[in-house]
Amino acid sequence: MVDSLEKVAAEIAVCEKCPLHQGRTNTVPGAGRSDADIMFIGEGPGFHEDRQGLPFVGASGKFLEEMLNSIGLTREDVFIANVVKCRPPGNRDPQSDEIEACREYLDRQIELIDPKVIVTLGRFSMARYFPNARISKIHGQAKKIGNRLYIPMYHPAAALHQPSLRATVEADFARIPELIEQMGSASGEEQPPDEPEQLSLF
Ligand code: URA
Ligand code: SF4
Repeated sequence: MVDSLEKVAAEIAVCEKCPLHQGRTNTVPGAGRSDADIMFIGEGPGFHEDRQGLPFVGASGKFLEEMLNSIGLTREDVFIANVVKCRPPGNRDPQSDEIEACREYLDRQIELIDPKVIVTLGRFSMARYFPNARISKIHGQAKKIGNRLYIPMYHPAAALHQPSLRATVEADFARIPELIEQMGSASGEEQPPDEPEQLSLF
């Protein structure tokens, strides 16, 4: 059977694979363009996300939206998802067994959207691609795996709680277009010169 983002979201809506389903008001599968070039992956829904069933709609989301706007994007241009689709009680960290239970949904979303760039927001999504890395060391530094670029960023909430990080996050975001352009012009065998990889967004 052909998979689709709608099918993934429908499965999430009735999922009871981990204990997080007990406390949820709504599942938060993720939202945005199904053919987005850039995908942002956060941690899990908070209070407002759980209420609305949408990712990053609270204070962190407002900041994320500002950052997107600063590089000429809106949330409609990208896809925003989380490593867990149900709100951890009291906004505690998601546990590894919960992340594991939820993993297939995010994997399928990534496969379906097939973004050129994945930006990880916070340590739980970072850990998927940068195991054992420290965000203070690697934030903003892109890593190319296959044809995709992975960019670890501080979680927007970190910048809200620690105002000194705000300028760091702003600077890391400001480099996203340039990193993507470099990827397009890199001398990778993946790209035949007669078919330059075009990013529609920049
Ligand atoms: N923080 C996250 O990691 N994800 C959200 O959707 C909202 C806040
Ligand atoms: Fe299912 Fe993920 Fe929600 Fe757990 S967090 S119940 S695995 S959708």
